[in-house]
Amino acid sequence: MIQVRNMSKYFDEFEALRDVTLDVHRSEVLCLIGPSGSGKSTLLRCLNFLEAYDGGEVLLEGELIGWKSAGASPRKALSGEALRRQRQHIGMVFQQFNLWPHLTALENVAEALIHVKGLGKKQAHEKARAALAKVNLSDKEKNYPANLSGGQQQRVAIARAIAMEPSVMLFDEPTSALDPELVGEVLSVMKEMANEGMTMVVVTHEMGFAAHVADRVAFLDSGRLVTCVPPAEIFGQVPEDPRVRAFLQTYR
Ligand code: ATP
Ligand code: MG
Repeated sequence: MIQVRNMSKYFDEFEALRDVTLDVHRSEVLCLIGPSGSGKSTLLRCLNFLEAYDGGEVLLEGELIGWKSAGASPRKALSGEALRRQRQHIGMVFQQFNLWPHLTALENVAEALIHVKGLGKKQAHEKARAALAKVNLSDKEKNYPANLSGGQQQRVAIARAIAMEPSVMLFDEPTSALDPELVGEVLSVMKEMANEGMTMVVVTHEMGFAAHVADRVAFLDSGRLVTCVPPAEIFGQVPEDPRVRAFLQTYR
C-alpha cells in the first residue's frame, strides 16, 4: 500500500532522514516511535509531500508521490493540482487540531468535501454527519471549536480527515497537546478505526497504544530506521538494540 524506498531528506547540510525503507500494508497500523528530533514528523510529512524528500521514493498504491517521475535528475515536483489529487487519499491529523474557529464542527468536517471534492452542501453535510458519528460527536455538530474540549476538537479533526475517505491516515502525536484525561477518548476512536481496517501510520509517545494496537512498531533514531517489528518484540522482551532499550527506559 505504502512503499518507502531509500528515502533521504536534508535540511541544508543536516541529514534528517537517511536511507529509510519501509512498507505499510493495507489495514496495517504502524506506530512510529523514537527520540525527539529523530525524524518522525519529517518522515510522516514526506509521505504526503508536505516536505519534498531528496532521495528515494514513496509509492502509494504503486503511484509515486510528489514527483513527476522516479529516476529523473533533477526531479520535478508535481503541480499543485496533481498533488492535491494525490493528497485526497492521505488523511493527516496533527498535534494541533487546526480547526477553523469561525465554522461549526459540522462545517469544519464538510469544508473540504465541498471545496476539494466538489460535493454539494447537502451531500457534504450528510457525509460530515456520518464522520462525526464515527468519532462519537453527533451531538456536537453545531458547536464551534471554542465550545469543544481539546479531545472533542481532535475528534472533529479526525472526522474531517476520514470524511474524505482516504486510503491511509497519518497521525503526528495526535494526543500530545491534550490534557491527560482527554487522551483516552481520542485513542479509543483511533482504535476503532484500526479495528475497522483503516491503514494508519501513527507517530506517538503512547507506548500502551503502540503495544496494543500497532501491528508493527518502527523505531527511528537520528534519521535512520533502526527496527520495524511486531510490538511484542519491542515491548514484550528486553529489546536487543541498545538505542531502543535506552529510549524505552525513559518510559519506565
Ligand atoms: P519530536 O519527537 O520532538 O516531534 P521528531 O522525531 O518529529 O521529533 P523532526 O521534527 O522530524 O523530529 O525533526 C528531525 C530533525 O530535523 C530535527 O533535528 C529537526 O531540528 C530537524 N528539522 C525539522 N524540520 C526542519 C526544518 N524545517 N528546517 C531545519 N531543520 C529541521
Ligand atoms: Mg515530531
